[in-house]
Amino acid sequence: MTHYKIAMLDGDGIGPEIMAEAEKVLNLVAERNAVEFELIHTPFGASAYFECGHPFPEQTIAICDDADAILKGPIGLNHEDSQKIPVDMQPERGALLPLRKRYNTWGNFRPVFLPPGLAHFSPIKPEIIGDGIDIMIIRELVGGLYFGEKEVGVNDRGLRYVRETLEYDEEQIRRIAKVAFETAQRRKKVLHNIHKSNVLKSSVLWNEVMEEVGKDFPDVRLEHILVDAAATYLCLNPGRFDVMVMENMFGDILSDQGGGILGSLGLMPSACVGDEKAYYEPSHGSAPDIAGQNVANPYSMIGSVAMMLEMSFGMQDEAKNVWHAMQSVFAQGYSTPDLSRPGSDVKLIDTRSFGDLVVSELAKTSV
Ligand code: NAD
Repeated sequence: MTHYKIAMLDGDGIGPEIMAEAEKVLNLVAERNAVEFELIHTPFGASAYFECGHPFPEQTIAICDDADAILKGPIGLNHEDSQKIPVDMQPERGALLPLRKRYNTWGNFRPVFLPPGLAHFSPIKPEIIGDGIDIMIIRELVGGLYFGEKEVGVNDRGLRYVRETLEYDEEQIRRIAKVAFETAQRRKKVLHNIHKSNVLKSSVLWNEVMEEVGKDFPDVRLEHILVDAAATYLCLNPGRFDVMVMENMFGDILSDQGGGILGSLGLMPSACVGDEKAYYEPSHGSAPDIAGQNVANPYSMIGSVAMMLEMSFGMQDEAKNVWHAMQSVFAQGYSTPDLSRPGSDVKLIDTRSFGDLVVSELAKTSV
């Protein structure tokens, strides 16, 4: 029997709640396939800092190093509670960025998907959504401003200052460009390159490399769009996009906007892929405002499981079954509170019930 070790980083806030539902799905997948998942829970994020004195403790590093894949819940605290942790130990700086750096997970895939039957979840008018929303946002994940050198100090005028650097080399751009073109080739053969070359020199180089890589993909149409315009088009006409590629910070922001046009960040799973290791996580944060209430939407976490099944374990059919099971739950009129709009007649369910219904729908699909 095939055996996979999965490092389970439950995280903070709603992390443990939505991770528990992902685990139910993994258990069923293991039960009905010739595969064994060894699920190793280990602390990560603010909870790890309070428990072990570090947000990415040695024991977690060792488990992740040894794992076949990493499933990560969201991390972080609300602004006030974050202040209880020294700046460099705060979850993003002390755990998330080091995780990405350690495994060099340079490619981030964030599907923004809403079938036409679920258009009522979106705050956008159904006539604008048309045939539904189906975009793959591909974000460079280990370069740019988030990873550049930082300097904080007092300048010669006695004023506090900060300097952060945005750096990319052509190799970093080329590898993300290549997977973006390959993805576009498998889909509608259109790639939207998001940039800000009218202001940023980094975007000038980015666009040059995109054009160069594009020569190897003559069947894919490359369209350049300024990031500010792309933000507008995402609201006015999301159907114009299929695959979008962009640098780190643009991807952070536009993919959250993707969650917004779907109706909730709870619909945003993701895959973070490096040459040797991948980890899977919801795109959203730890939602401290609803933590511990059993109301979070676990779709993003279960969707991350589906992406792991497909991309790390080659279980494409079972991944499709998991997506299908989640859509079937929605199609029956159920939803978690984040997706209910005033006047909508959805049958509200909690986090655990959503997971249970997904499991029962998954059990109906054939392996
Ligand atoms: P957030 O993404 O946690 O929440 C924004 C809004 O979306 C909130 O109203 C929240 O309730 C809602 N939401 C998010 N996920 C949901 C879900 N699954 N179901 C239902 N509603 C959901 O953003 P925030 O409040 O700005 O950040 C909270 C913490 O998360 C911060 O510490 C931030 O730094 C951190 N964060 C972590 C990650 C990560 O782990 N990769 C990503 C983004 C933010």
